[in-house]
Amino acid sequence: MRKKIVAGNWKMYTTTSAARQLAREVVAGVGNEQGVQVIVCPPFPYLGVVGEALQGSRVALGAQNAYCVREGAFTGEVSPAMLADVGCHYVILGHSERRHQLGESDELINKKVKLALDCGLKVILCVGETLQERESKQTSQVVERHLTTGIAGVAPAALAKVILAYEPVWAIGTGHTATPAQAQEVHAFLRSKVAALWSADGAAQMPILYGGSVKPANAAEIFQQPDVDGGLIGGASLKAADFLPIVQAGIG
Ligand code: PEP
Repeated sequence: MRKKIVAGNWKMYTTTSAARQLAREVVAGVGNEQGVQVIVCPPFPYLGVVGEALQGSRVALGAQNAYCVREGAFTGEVSPAMLADVGCHYVILGHSERRHQLGESDELINKKVKLALDCGLKVILCVGETLQERESKQTSQVVERHLTTGIAGVAPAALAKVILAYEPVWAIGTGHTATPAQAQEVHAFLRSKVAALWSADGAAQMPILYGGSVKPANAAEIFQQPDVDGGLIGGASLKAADFLPIVQAGIG
């Protein structure tokens, strides 16, 4: 059985003290709970303070991005080897804000995925269609392309370290959540594609998270879908009072 995962994407929010405080509140709220894997992904400058606050807890540290080269003259970029070095176990790659606002291509994301896995990180690979793509019935095509190009060339053993996140762009930060049935439909489709690309066993084990305006009020219904293995949470991960009930929904 797949364990539920609830990951908080803090995006470009918080300060040193707010990040430390939020991490402490999440740690206290999660306690010794083992029924769900909780991950928090603060901005790069706060990985250190948040990592300290998570010490000895069940909450794991993740980053929101990484570059596709291990080290070198790439001013302003952060290597996945550095993220592993500062205690990250996870990295979010292919987030729609990076695809659409920062122009990241499928090819670049694939390079990042391969290197992050090589550096020992688990990858949360985001896939998802825009509203226009959904309305023109291209959802399956788009998420299949994001999946196929994202994991191209990744060895089967490393695929076990990939977590997919279905994040419809029209649902991110908009308050318009996909219905549980819409999420389930895409998740089941993605799982069938993973089975074809990799193996039935691999697909059965791969966590597929839903992301897009998940809130305490809608989390349980979405997480109950058979192919939804938890959530990638943006806005609602910035307050422990919102995030912890979502974690609770992951426990069931
Ligand atoms: C996200 O940033 O990955 C996300 C899902 O954001 P929100 O929950 O705010 O829609």
